[in-house]
Amino acid sequence: MKVLTGILELVRKNDKYRLETLNLQASENKISPDVKEALSSDLASRYSHIMPDGNNSYGGTSIFEEIYETAKTNVQSLYNVRYADIRPIGGHVAVLAAIKSLTKRGDTIYAIGPEGGGYPGYQDEYIPEMLSLRKRNIPYLQEQQEIDYNEFATVARKDKPNLIVLGQSAFVKSYDLSEISEIAAEAGSKILYDGSHVMGLIAGGKFQPDAAKKADILVGSTHKSFFGPQGGLILTNDLDLVPKIEKNLTWMTMDNMHPNRVAALGIAAQEMLKHGKEYAALVEKNSHHLGKALDDLDIPVRFKPWYSKSHQVLLSPSREKDFINFSNKLEKNKIIVDRDGRIGTSEISRMGFSDMERIADLISEALAGHNVLKRVADLVSSLRIEFWR
Ligand SMILES: *Cc1c(COP(=O)(O)O)cnc(C)c1O
Repeated sequence: MKVLTGILELVRKNDKYRLETLNLQASENKISPDVKEALSSDLASRYSHIMPDGNNSYGGTSIFEEIYETAKTNVQSLYNVRYADIRPIGGHVAVLAAIKSLTKRGDTIYAIGPEGGGYPGYQDEYIPEMLSLRKRNIPYLQEQQEIDYNEFATVARKDKPNLIVLGQSAFVKSYDLSEISEIAAEAGSKILYDGSHVMGLIAGGKFQPDAAKKADILVGSTHKSFFGPQGGLILTNDLDLVPKIEKNLTWMTMDNMHPNRVAALGIAAQEMLKHGKEYAALVEKNSHHLGKALDDLDIPVRFKPWYSKSHQVLLSPSREKDFINFSNKLEKNKIIVDRDGRIGTSEISRMGFSDMERIADLISEALAGHNVLKRVADLVSSLRIEFWR
């Protein structure tokens, strides 16, 4: 019993600690009380598996089935797509199932490499190894944060990749999808858009609103710029792909879809349908302002004068070895950032906050070694979650 209560005490301690911190992590967001209620409901220990013949292989699921259908409809209308799969239990699982649906062993895929801020999962030793794919890097211009479209067209013409994977983990600028569509058409490639980081922005009509329309599949996490819970989505307008997607989920990359997560996702999608436009516009504005405010205080952020078009601002690579140091200094003052040099604005935007000068000033003071705990506490205690009912 001691161990059990010990952990529960730590969980409560963490709740309190995180309530007192200013969270600026690009991969995270805050969930609403409604989403949290669904997550901790009875559904958290249930199963539901609707078989191809329409029967459920579990009993007691009639209410959940209604929840599932509503959640699915909510997501489909949010992204304006013909098919949404809401079962993936994470962005990575969604990516695996989607790539498997678009390739076969021995195929060639192109994705953004690590130097361009590409997702580690696409590098040779992970998903390509698992699915026996040959992986090449999409030519990428660091300074502009843009694909080198001319160079990419030349290599794609020669190499004829089966699949082009777009999307990054360090992700501050969208793509020219018309250019990519042309390259793909000429090379005979499919397009997968991994919007894990920016699903909340896309849902709100920002960053890359044409992603679902121009890619064969749009895939991503539901908890980075999206309103949670942790999980993944697979979206497409190509109904021919649906049987493949279905086959590559249950019993291939996952089994239980976690009904509590599905209910929570359906609620989050409702919140997005109602408030997504306003939220996404605020995120975009806050990121640009934060970049400028940090730059004004001589904190080395990248891509002046535009800084960011997404929910994250990137620190200059000259600081790379200092990212951990940077994060630790801030954490001493209860300001939380990751150790990859990204500063995120999703969570503070979800709290309706827009005074980026104040945040930049706190960061600058904390880096200078000053104690700003009291000022952070004052700021955090004034924040309330918005964009839900
Ligand atoms: C975070 C991320 C993932 C993985 O998502 P999870 O929900 O953590 O499984 C996949 N692709 C990209 C580009 C990411 O940034």
